[in-house]
Amino acid sequence: MSAPRPAGPEPTSAQLPVPGDSHRADRLRELDRRHVWHPYAALPPAMAPLLVDSAAGVRLRLADGRELVDGMSSWWAAVHGYRHPVLDAAVTDQLGRMAHVMFGGLTHEPAVRLAQTLVEITPPGLEHVFLCDSGSVSVEVAIKMGLQYQLGQGRPGRRKLATWRGGYHGDTFHPMSVCDPEGGMHHLWRGVLPAQVFVSAPPGDFAAAPDERYLAELDDAVARHADEIAAVIVEPVVQGTGGMRFHHPAYLRALREATAAHDVLLIFDEIATGFGRTGAFFAAEHAGVTPDVLCLGKALTGGYLTLAAALCTPEVAAGISAGGVLAHGPTFMGNPLACAVANASIGLLRAAAPTAAGSVAAWQVAVRRIEAGLRDGLAPVATLPGVRDVRVLGAIGVVQLDRPVDLAAATAAAVDAGVWLRPFRDLIYTMPPYPADDDDIARIARAMAAAAVAVPR
Ligand code: PMP
Repeated sequence: MSAPRPAGPEPTSAQLPVPGDSHRADRLRELDRRHVWHPYAALPPAMAPLLVDSAAGVRLRLADGRELVDGMSSWWAAVHGYRHPVLDAAVTDQLGRMAHVMFGGLTHEPAVRLAQTLVEITPPGLEHVFLCDSGSVSVEVAIKMGLQYQLGQGRPGRRKLATWRGGYHGDTFHPMSVCDPEGGMHHLWRGVLPAQVFVSAPPGDFAAAPDERYLAELDDAVARHADEIAAVIVEPVVQGTGGMRFHHPAYLRALREATAAHDVLLIFDEIATGFGRTGAFFAAEHAGVTPDVLCLGKALTGGYLTLAAALCTPEVAAGISAGGVLAHGPTFMGNPLACAVANASIGLLRAAAPTAAGSVAAWQVAVRRIEAGLRDGLAPVATLPGVRDVRVLGAIGVVQLDRPVDLAAATAAAVDAGVWLRPFRDLIYTMPPYPADDDDIARIARAMAAAAVAVPR
């Protein structure tokens, strides 16, 4: 049922601009305000979005002519920045062959190449690749793999998932059920979402000594709930949207041992952490463990197109296939444009970069440099009033306040400092595109400091 439209003509300011229109930007902003729903927003949104005309390198160009260094990599995705010639060429070249073709009954070179590459670069043992359209969908697929695997093993009672608090796995319903039950907006869905098993959030930091009591808690939780859980799902090493917290890899090893002992599957959600962001190409490498299922997304295509993947081991694939098919098949599964640009993006990350100490992969040089720059630039922020913690891991920098951030004031302060940031809750954070140079990183750190002390105007 649609609500009746208000009577009378639309105001002229809300007509689409035509070429040469000097009020183009105003008209677009007004139409956006009226019709476009933005992420995590009401209508109309509390804060008007900035209008971006174009982006190149690590800079976003706004319609009013301002240029901002992108401190967000478009939510962890644009690891190479924007308009990278190699990525642009990969899309254009693939466009000359086909933009899309259904994946049921058909296959194509970009997808086959990508699957083969992902098997090669992910932790050993992951051999099968299910391509899908977004991170949340890959988590849905991973969960479905877990449930179908247990069904195939004759354990229909294992229908729940277990996770630790403070996590985030996406906004569709099953992924929401394993997000932190207290954080974000997911409390709205209490009673609607399937009830899952939660243990407390991993304590400490990446470098803090592992907590023996917590290791035992993980082991105990898996053992106690083994008869009702199909899988344990966690973000390895970095909990992102659930609070930008880091933890010791020993907890991942403990989960690996406990789940293996009870034939519970272990799912790692590396949608945010994959492709070098944490200082290892995949965060699982910090722990030296292979999960049964691995979710990838975001930076998979260098931020060009939406694509995600759920990889699994031969044991999981065989367990599912013994009982029939994996019942999933998105329309845009294996989109050729997305696969082609993913192949090009991974190629850029893995390219050899000569250094004084010999040849190192390009991503590693970039992430080490950004990590050092963020440590230097953010060190003075720790002493600012209202700052509770500053932490850096790989190409991720986090400033945590002792109060919720004022989004409008913090954003305005960062923009005034020439940087695009998107703080949330009590967190001002950055994960810059890898080509960001030392000056860009220093500028991002200054903008984070300005955002941390920003007060409402
Ligand atoms: N898992 C993690 C760890 C994420 O950070 C996100 C996205 N923020 C998702 C899943 C969901 O991915 P998408 O937004 O592509 O659905």
